[in-house]
Amino acid sequence: MAVATKKQRVVRNTMKRTVKARSAKKRNVAKAAKSKFRPMNVAVAGGSKAEKRFRAMAALPAAAVKPQAIAPGLPPMPAHNLINHGGKIIADVVYTNFYVGGASSWDQNDINLIDRALAAAMSDTGLNNVMVQYFKNQPITTTFKPSHILPGTRPASFSQGDVERLVKSLFQQGALAGFDLDSTVFNFLLPRGTVLTTDTSTTNAVSPSGAARVIPIEDEDSSLQGLGGYHGSVHATKKAKVYYSVGVFSERRPNGRDNGIVVFDLPWKNIVATFYHELNEARTDADVEDAIRAGNSPKAVKFLGWTSRQGEECGDFPITEAGQNLTLVMKEVNLANGTGKVPVQFQYSNAVQGPEGPIAQPHPLP
Ligand SMILES: [Zn+2]
Repeated sequence: MAVATKKQRVVRNTMKRTVKARSAKKRNVAKAAKSKFRPMNVAVAGGSKAEKRFRAMAALPAAAVKPQAIAPGLPPMPAHNLINHGGKIIADVVYTNFYVGGASSWDQNDINLIDRALAAAMSDTGLNNVMVQYFKNQPITTTFKPSHILPGTRPASFSQGDVERLVKSLFQQGALAGFDLDSTVFNFLLPRGTVLTTDTSTTNAVSPSGAARVIPIEDEDSSLQGLGGYHGSVHATKKAKVYYSVGVFSERRPNGRDNGIVVFDLPWKNIVATFYHELNEARTDADVEDAIRAGNSPKAVKFLGWTSRQGEECGDFPITEAGQNLTLVMKEVNLANGTGKVPVQFQYSNAVQGPEGPIAQPHPLP
């Protein structure tokens, strides 16, 4: 069958991912769209180079979109509505924040503000009233465990290979003991100035002894091109899968160039909004990295939770739709419990067929 042949070729291409990432400059986007399936587990700024690249790779193979996933009799779904592919979702999520780069890389005030605001946003009734539609309108909970500053120095750049190595190292040291790995997401927050990439090789950034290698950043999908963060998972052992997300210290740098997704007046707010995006995606599409690892094989799709036909997760299309006007979807909103405001990024709501801020009551299920 012609489709199967194509799929086999795609699987082979996917396995060459590391090599391909190095020649990103030469790669043409249309070709990437045909040759590689990569759901959007990344947060990228609208209109950025990083966004174009990831969108091209995110579309589901046509054969993998099951028409029966749409209940018969419903009106046609808008193009970016999320579809439940049946993969893992996490109703009761636990998370903690690991601050990368050592205490000297961080202002304790920023840490306090980020910890407090992200926890408040994730537990806010109004915001969760939007998200519960992906959990059959059953209650969802978030538990924030105390954050930690990881030892080390500020890395110049930090790759997917680095975060995976760091996760494995923490696991092996026993630092993740006491967490239920099935329901926990470990957030890795990069310090000011560190550039995040999706390069799957390591940079020595997390080795205390190794000098940080300066990678050719322009060749990678990087936070200097609109990448804000991403989430994934690491198989630390055969039985232990660890969920993580990683995000950049999003701010305008002294040279006028943005690192990450810069919208709010203060960097800590950008960071909270990005991790709000990642945590919601991790809980609604936990095993996306297994889908990416499976490439275009038919079994890839079964790992997916809620994604659109374009491969977008709940946080992605809102950024795309807002384009250059990110303030439309990245806002400070009032907490339902009256304790103040938090900076968040609105998530995609099937009920309103677009990005939606906090609401007083959940939508009725369709
Ligand atoms: Zn995303």
